[in-house]
Amino acid sequence: MKFLTRQYDFFHANETRPLEHRLKALDLLKTAIKRNESDIVEALSKDLNKSEFEAYTTEIGILYTEIDYVKKHLKKWMKPKRVKTAITHIGSVGKIYPDPYGVTLIIAPWNYPFQLAIAPLIGAIAGGNTAVIKPSELTPHTADIIETMIEQTFIDDFIAVKQGAVEETQALLDHPFDYIFFTGSVGVGKIVMEKASHNLTPITLELGGKSPAIVHEDASLKLAAKRIAWGKFTNAGQTCVAPDYLYVHEHVKDTFLTHLKEAIYELYTDDPMSNAEYTHIVNDKHFDRLLQYLNDGHVIQGGEYDRDNRVIEPTLMTDVQLDSAVMEDEIFGPILPILTYSDIHTIVDDIKKHPKPLALYLFSETEHIQSYVIDNVQFGGGCINDTIFHLATPHLPFGGVGHSGMGSYHGQYSFKAFTHQKSILKQATWFDLPIRYPNAKNGLKWI
Ligand code: NAD
Repeated sequence: MKFLTRQYDFFHANETRPLEHRLKALDLLKTAIKRNESDIVEALSKDLNKSEFEAYTTEIGILYTEIDYVKKHLKKWMKPKRVKTAITHIGSVGKIYPDPYGVTLIIAPWNYPFQLAIAPLIGAIAGGNTAVIKPSELTPHTADIIETMIEQTFIDDFIAVKQGAVEETQALLDHPFDYIFFTGSVGVGKIVMEKASHNLTPITLELGGKSPAIVHEDASLKLAAKRIAWGKFTNAGQTCVAPDYLYVHEHVKDTFLTHLKEAIYELYTDDPMSNAEYTHIVNDKHFDRLLQYLNDGHVIQGGEYDRDNRVIEPTLMTDVQLDSAVMEDEIFGPILPILTYSDIHTIVDDIKKHPKPLALYLFSETEHIQSYVIDNVQFGGGCINDTIFHLATPHLPFGGVGHSGMGSYHGQYSFKAFTHQKSILKQATWFDLPIRYPNAKNGLKWI
């Protein structure tokens, strides 16, 4: 791939390092997104039946905020940071230089196919790197607009788009990139990590998994229902941090479920399948996979589907078996299994028996319940009394832990993800402390 050699040369010619270059590239990117906004919205509609509102809020607007935030702070982040001097190092100065990795690879999934390709790119540019983007082949219209937009805006010595599926991605992964940013499934994350190990390439893995939501008996139930319905059914549940399944305290189960059904009605009316605001399932394979889950419990709301348009109603299920597929796989669709509990300690123990989730959501008004869950369960990040909103702020690092991923990004964390922290100790030459040398004499040695 010739463009990779050119990217290598472009990086080593120091074209990408200056602050001015990074700021200009971020400006160009923002202008390009704005110029292509209607085509991006159209592509998302063709690929996922994403509504204009959802396309703007979850794929486009979020990028403008991120670009503006990064531009505002970049100069400060790029400055070498002076650190304290240890007593043994007296006379020297220690500084940390955020150093670009070089030629980077960004592999994106299909569920937020525009945002999840471009948000890491903002980090790559801010960090002073070149980048190759590999969009998802399952959302081809969005992949095309990403390619067109990037080609119109940047030379491929700096930023290139390489389209393709498994074979093409694996071919890319055989190249010795300086850094890889992967968003996708746990299984493919392992392949990426294995491939990266051949070149000892540092990686960030943004993966998935089963993210629980817990509604405690003291929760503000109506609001909890609204926020859970929104977090679960936005993008028809095809969100890495969507609440995958729900624990609700047995004392409030009936009231909460009434609120949850009302919340679904308020969001999508009584005919969600014809509602333009409701996203469809990405392809037949995922549609068929999701239909199988409907057999794993008792459907108390929804459950209808339309195969021609690949749409499944927002669905609530109770009486699910813990060893059924719907409780073992990442659901990644508009089906919400609901379990009840009486003692929060038992569900904390249950969650701990499974791989560390990407997100966890707790609805409770009590401080010690909140602290208990935060202090006792390992997960990537999450919300108290909300869902998925924690990923929409540039001030919080976003990422998983264990099976849900490694590393994080957004805001300054994207800049950090795409830079190596190079440590430099600048030593004094006007004296030399002899204590480190064998047979040292006491005292300072003046030069
Ligand atoms: P995926 O892992 O199937 O695909 C992701 C990318 O990897 C695509 O570009 C695809 O072409 C490529 N790919 C697929 N198979 C490959 C293989 N065998 N070898 C090399 N490359 C391969 O993921 P997906 O279905 O696109 O996305 C859904 C998954 O992504 C879910 O698990 C979801 O939780 C996760 N996800 C995580 C985040 C996050 O930020 N943590 C965000 C969105 C999605």
